[in-house]
Amino acid sequence: MWQPILTRNIHLPNSEKITTYFDHGGYQSVRKALTLAPDDVIDLVKRARLRGRGGAGFPTGLKWSFVPKGAGVTRYLAVNTDEGEPGTFKDRAIVERDPHQIIEGVIIAAYAIQAQRAFVYIRGEFFLGVKRWIKAIADAYQYGLLGKNILNSGFSLDISVHRGAGAYICGEETAMIESLEGKRGEPRLKPPYPVQAGLWGQPTVVQNVETLVNVPHIVLNGAEWYAAIGTEKSTGPKIFCVSGHVNRPGVYELPLGTPLRTIIDDYAGGVRHGHTIKAVIPGGVSTNVVLPAQLDVPMSFEGLEAIGTQLGTGGIVVMDDTTDMVEVARRTVAFFAHESCGSCVPCRLGGYRLLETLTRFTEHTATADDMQNLQWLARGISGITFCPLGTGMANPVNALVHHFDGEFRAHMQVN
Ligand code: SF4
Repeated sequence: MWQPILTRNIHLPNSEKITTYFDHGGYQSVRKALTLAPDDVIDLVKRARLRGRGGAGFPTGLKWSFVPKGAGVTRYLAVNTDEGEPGTFKDRAIVERDPHQIIEGVIIAAYAIQAQRAFVYIRGEFFLGVKRWIKAIADAYQYGLLGKNILNSGFSLDISVHRGAGAYICGEETAMIESLEGKRGEPRLKPPYPVQAGLWGQPTVVQNVETLVNVPHIVLNGAEWYAAIGTEKSTGPKIFCVSGHVNRPGVYELPLGTPLRTIIDDYAGGVRHGHTIKAVIPGGVSTNVVLPAQLDVPMSFEGLEAIGTQLGTGGIVVMDDTTDMVEVARRTVAFFAHESCGSCVPCRLGGYRLLETLTRFTEHTATADDMQNLQWLARGISGITFCPLGTGMANPVNALVHHFDGEFRAHMQVN
């Protein structure tokens, strides 16, 4: 039976308090990390083969190693708590219930890259999360875990919390940086990447909450211990969020590589009311659906890529045989069209043209031309937008039309 590592504290009474965190071994990892050289911490994370949990899966230690070294360079760490992908609620659970585990990860990450300033960017709607962040940071200062000369190590770090205004695009790292700088949240052209030129043009590591909470465990237990969890290319535990037509929706932490079927049946209690599965979104709504015949897919970066989809955020949405897949496509596009920042044409205009076309299907007024235009539009948007949002809107439509062609045709106008 798998024993949770990252979520082990979230069901404890008063789990958000610093005293609870201390009572369960909290901040031991920081004490150890501060005795190591910063490069040795980066080396540990590299050997653990930790990959970012925000969606892209980039190797974390490698990212940290790209940060320019040397005195006189101001470096920053930005903590991405702007969780907005529909079907994803793992970071929120940690922020609200175990914020000190994140702060411990932040201190170690900042020490590794030698940043003395960290910025927390949190989704504006997370009212409780904002309160928990602010209280946890204040308590960490009080115990000498933040501020000048942390635990007499000579290392200093200050953290501040910044609320977003509910724009999904600000979860994209460069849009988040723009927003932190007080500008309109729009993605920047890459390169340069934030590790080269991020906040105010300085090297900045942007790291997701779930990624950061893995770090204390790697430092405390070793890279080899960590790398033995999961698969060769996807190491460590992963927090999956399961929602939709299951009996026990919720947050489940399991090793990467656990079969999707196991997560749904053994942890989320199977499909509701004895129905069967029609399709599953595996990693947030911008990932292509998994079909019933593919449910034994390992939930790893490489496992999902092998069947043409992605691990994404690990936000699993289960849809049973009563689900209208045309309506799924329409709602997905409605979300992304609304959240488009508007700075590039294929996403800004293409999103609304897609939405209009899909609405004609759900209203049973679509024609044969609409069927053709739907695929033409989705293919035209995919891969050519300035940031991944546009492609993340078009790809699921392509996949749904491909897999459920008959259902789309059945929604067309009856002459
Ligand atoms: Fe903005 Fe959409 Fe273009 Fe991304 S793809 S830059 S969200 S308009």
